[in-house]
Amino acid sequence: MNGDELMKQEILERFIEYVKIDTQANDESTTCPSTPGQLTLLNKLVDELKFIGMSEVTIDEFGYVMATLPSNTEKEVPTIGFLAHVDTATDFTGAHVNPQIVENYNGKDIVLSKQQNIVLSPKNFPELANYLGHTLITTDGTTLLGADNKAGIAEIMTAMTYLIDHPEIKHGKIRVAFTPDEEIGRGPHRFNVKAFNATYAYTVDGGPLGELQYESFNAASAIVNFKGNNVHPGTAKNKMVHAGKMAMEFHGKLPVAEAPEYTDGYEGFYHLLKIKADVENAKLAYIIRDFNREAFANKKEKMLEIADELKEKYGKDCLAIEIRDQYYNMSEKIKPVKEVVEVAEQAMKNLYITPKIAPIRGGTDGSQLSYMGLPTPNIFTGGENFHGKFEYISLQNMEKATKSIVEIARLFAERA
Ligand SMILES: [Zn+2]
Repeated sequence: MNGDELMKQEILERFIEYVKIDTQANDESTTCPSTPGQLTLLNKLVDELKFIGMSEVTIDEFGYVMATLPSNTEKEVPTIGFLAHVDTATDFTGAHVNPQIVENYNGKDIVLSKQQNIVLSPKNFPELANYLGHTLITTDGTTLLGADNKAGIAEIMTAMTYLIDHPEIKHGKIRVAFTPDEEIGRGPHRFNVKAFNATYAYTVDGGPLGELQYESFNAASAIVNFKGNNVHPGTAKNKMVHAGKMAMEFHGKLPVAEAPEYTDGYEGFYHLLKIKADVENAKLAYIIRDFNREAFANKKEKMLEIADELKEKYGKDCLAIEIRDQYYNMSEKIKPVKEVVEVAEQAMKNLYITPKIAPIRGGTDGSQLSYMGLPTPNIFTGGENFHGKFEYISLQNMEKATKSIVEIARLFAERA
């Protein structure tokens, strides 16, 4: 086997091992990690990091794993970090993942489950055409795959192994972290930025080849509780106050076009997540998203204005609104240190990968970490269709992600 084949073999073995551990997060749990399976994998990663020869391997009381690859150059190189999360999405089960390996993909339908007639088809997923001749790893149609984000773990681990085996590649100090509960938005909450002590970091948590992201939404949640007055409908005239109808009125005042189903690119939205309503009580749960900080503020303001209008009409106790910021657009923190993006871009170009820089219509752990003092853009893992049964990943592109990590480390030292 040549070097590339060995690297692919290593990535594949690691990946298959990781996805077989059920690490689905649970947002109803108050512990950290939210589920015990995550800790199983995190502990395993501790052993593996030690085994491959990493230094300062630690796991803290919340399960955050960190490790160091010491610098092998005299130069002053900024410390860079690579992060991946161990948990899988809450949307679809991650128990008993049974990965299927499709070698030399021929561009046709991939039958995931014959029994249940679940087919990964280029008719529904035309991007499959990009993977002709690749080795694809798919699900068996009954679970998600967990490439999000176990591909990132396998890639970081293999890149570190590669750097350890190739001391001729000069690099500065590298920090690695594997973290819990990204999928339920808690990943960075207990991340010890000080202990990590890196100048920049990358989450290896993106999708298809070349993805490089450093712009995320500004994000807030809004909960509106309405209080009505239920009276027997036969004698309700001028007495009944209908909470559900107030909720409908509230929602009706929001701009119709500013919703997820009508927006893309840099457009923001209000997304009504949940409605619960009867005559006496009603509740609306929203998320608010916008890339632009001012537009974000305006969206929140708009909600408060609508709340005031209804209070004027129905009395000040008719509703209570609570808006909470969740995370902010990381570009505000990353643009001033654009080097972190430039190096990743150059690393990809050096490997003949076309960088695909686009805003993330969502957030990553990096959105919060960037505001905690660690500028953290996101790079690709090679996966597609995250969070569901059609999730798959190309082994060739996992290899490219691994090489991108190595090249980023090398470039930082070269530039120093
Ligand atoms: Zn992820």
